[in-house]
Amino acid sequence: MSVAVPFIALLLTAAFAAYHRWRLPVWVALAATVLVACWLLGASAAASAVAAALLLLVAVPLLLPQVRKPYITAPLLKFYTRILPPLSATERTALESGTVGFEGELFSGRPQWDKLLSQPRPELTAEEQAFLDGPVEALCRSIDDWEITHVHADLPPAMWEFLKSNRFFGMIIPKQYGGLGFSALAHHKVIEKISSISTVVSSTVGVPNSLGPGELLMHYGTSEQKDYYLPRLADGREVPCFALTGPFAGSDATSIPDYGIVCMGQWNGASVVGVKLTFDKRYITLAPVATVIGLAFRLYDPEGLIGDVRDVGITLALLPRDTPGVEVGRRHFPLNSPFQNGPVEGREVFVPLSQLIGGEDYVGQGWQMLVECLSVGRAITLPSTASGGARMAAVVTGAYARIRKQFGLSIGRFEGVQEALARIAGKAYAISALAQATAAAVDRGEKPAVPSAIAKYHCTEMGREVVSDAMDVHGGKGIILGPRNYLGRAWQATPISITVEGANIMTRSLMIFGQGAILCHPWVLKEMKAAALEDGAQRLDEFDRNLFGHIGFAISNAVRSLWFGLTAARIGKAPGDAYTRRYYRKLNRYSAVLALCADTSMLLLGGKLKFKESLSGRLGDVLSHLYLASAMLKRYEDEGRPAGDQPLLAWAFHDSINRIETALSNALRNFPIRPVGWLLWLLVFPWGRRAQAPSDRLGHKAASLLMTPCDARARLARGVFTTPTANNPAGRVDSYLPRVILADPVERKFLKALKHSDIEALDFGQQLDEGVREGWISAGERAQLEELREMTLDAISVDDFAGWELRSAGYYRDELPATGERAAA
Ligand SMILES: Cc1cc2nc3c(=O)[nH]c(=O)nc-3n(C[C@H](O)[C@H](O)[C@H](O)COP(=O)(O)OP(=O)(O)OC[C@H]3O[C@@H](n4cnc5c(N)ncnc54)[C@H](O)[C@@H]3O)c2cc1C
Repeated sequence: MSVAVPFIALLLTAAFAAYHRWRLPVWVALAATVLVACWLLGASAAASAVAAALLLLVAVPLLLPQVRKPYITAPLLKFYTRILPPLSATERTALESGTVGFEGELFSGRPQWDKLLSQPRPELTAEEQAFLDGPVEALCRSIDDWEITHVHADLPPAMWEFLKSNRFFGMIIPKQYGGLGFSALAHHKVIEKISSISTVVSSTVGVPNSLGPGELLMHYGTSEQKDYYLPRLADGREVPCFALTGPFAGSDATSIPDYGIVCMGQWNGASVVGVKLTFDKRYITLAPVATVIGLAFRLYDPEGLIGDVRDVGITLALLPRDTPGVEVGRRHFPLNSPFQNGPVEGREVFVPLSQLIGGEDYVGQGWQMLVECLSVGRAITLPSTASGGARMAAVVTGAYARIRKQFGLSIGRFEGVQEALARIAGKAYAISALAQATAAAVDRGEKPAVPSAIAKYHCTEMGREVVSDAMDVHGGKGIILGPRNYLGRAWQATPISITVEGANIMTRSLMIFGQGAILCHPWVLKEMKAAALEDGAQRLDEFDRNLFGHIGFAISNAVRSLWFGLTAARIGKAPGDAYTRRYYRKLNRYSAVLALCADTSMLLLGGKLKFKESLSGRLGDVLSHLYLASAMLKRYEDEGRPAGDQPLLAWAFHDSINRIETALSNALRNFPIRPVGWLLWLLVFPWGRRAQAPSDRLGHKAASLLMTPCDARARLARGVFTTPTANNPAGRVDSYLPRVILADPVERKFLKALKHSDIEALDFGQQLDEGVREGWISAGERAQLEELREMTLDAISVDDFAGWELRSAGYYRDELPATGERAAA
């Protein structure tokens, strides 16, 4: 027997134990047994003895705390404290404000899939469903998006009243205060449906139900504030807005220069302690129509009227609109989506302390309050908006591609168009799964800091890609604005969702991995907390326990990454059915890889990692697509594993895996310490990069689903406003699809007769007459072709206008200075 055998046996047992995450004593016992067995079976005694000595050399110091703690842990603790990324107060707040859900499993390198799959399937209550079928459907039927966006630049007064009286602004407010008390899932579905016809109306409904006065009062309000404001917010007597952003504080919101000074002042005729506020805010949604303004500012108490701290910190207040000194009313114009949005200013505006949210108890805690509530709203409003838009774009573009013919064929038959349709289909599937997953996380009581950032970023980015592809498939029909155009406004509005609630570049490059790496990692936060302990002995004990857990974890992930890479993740335990099992295995692989790369990056770059935004962004992409793919698999399970959805799932899954590999390969090729990048490459891609973009065959299947009425298409259309009303051109185009398909054989027969000059008339009506007369088509088929022509015309028509209809009425108002063209008009 070769002298190498005991060493190979030692290495294999170590790898086996690491793969299964066995504890150190178990590995040592196993390795010792195997070495004895090797020796008994004839391996070289000397080699066996050297291997055993090696085993002892590793095991003894690690197993004996008296040796390990002073000689290994203590120096490592010193090193760790030096490289520990310095956490700013803002980051600490962000980390402490979120909970960890299934994303923690994805960071574990060995996800426990039953934790995902055993989550109950999200369901609406009968009351919530009735709201969607009743008031939401009625609202959608009344929306004329062109009138809103072009003619009035606002919702009609009756629609404002409808929204208020049906408590659309109080979806998240509990019933005891007169709100609807809806689940996050219902909230998601309402926004999804409205946004499928109008993003102006959906943002108007979304904002009061997102981060703002309502939610802040529910969590931190005094009982007087709750009793007064919540019922008034629920029924729309009060319209809220929340003002954080200003000209000098955008993404870096904690740097707001707006301030309040604690002082005595007059309120309702009495002299009281209060705050004098000076602020300059912009981009504030609903501000022009708001009756109550939530305001974030920095509070100072120079005279020590409420305590002995001068710079108290960020604080939140509620300002009634008519408070003297408050100036609102003018409007911004966000990319032709005229939802109410504008600046708010104030100089030396006095309010009593009772107007601070939460009263005196919460002064200085404003940032924490905002961050604690942020994840909930961010998990719903924008992901749901993207989901409604993408679902609608998918069904209507599929129908349009079938109806619109060029070169004698439906444009959807051309491979180039199919590629765009496949991207639309796959991404609409992915977006809707992700948006629903984050809403479900909120309903489980999570504060999904990391998933909400993932959903906000990826739903809005994919939403932008979907609408862009949909525009291309529609050609000129998508370009010409007017009542018949159901895409143009959505296309214009997509950059808005990219920018708001944390602009996307920063969300990707700073937040997703930055927060995820610490919050979701099984050991890092524990180590950081241990290293910060006051008591020296306790610090060493705690750090020792977590550090060696972490080291074992890191070794295991390296072994698992290599093993999965070598086997292309083809073997191993995984849930799912015959179709999806391989998908779970792939996710197991990249989960281990993510954990390995994250650990290596944190260890070697320490505090510098947060400035390496390209690396952080790429690792964030890996985490995001792992989460997204898990959400899609959960959706597939929740739907009862429908075979019809498989092409959509497969397309979106392969796209995610391809993006994961692209992100990893870019991260490793550009790793700041090159040799480490090469080593990681060997562990992660032992056979090189293998993942491919979804195949053309798969793309063809996904595209065909959008162009044919079927269960999978119906599931994609579920929850969007497809009722074919006069104000819903997209719903009408969608409704034509079955009849267009039925008319297909008749049309083919008719076109053949035309092509062979069997029908010679030039006018369409005369051609039909001749066709019937000559027996090429029956009278019934003639009616079918006439209907087909009408449907096609409705689908492909665009609008035209008199010149004055395109001018902005505001510019020609009498009171404006009469200069140049304005005067002429
Ligand atoms: C239509 C609209 C509605 C809004 N509604 C409200 C509202 O109701 N209330 C409210 O308070 N605010 C609101 N906002 C503000 C919105 O949340 C901010 O616009 C947003 O936070 C970005 O600030 P900014 O536009 O000043 O961009 P900037 O902060 O100037 O950022 C510009 C770019 O730089 C990137 N960037 C900045 N820092 C980093 C970094 N460290 N790393 C990587 N990239 C970075 C950003 O991602 C962005 O791409 C709204 C904005 C808009 C446009």
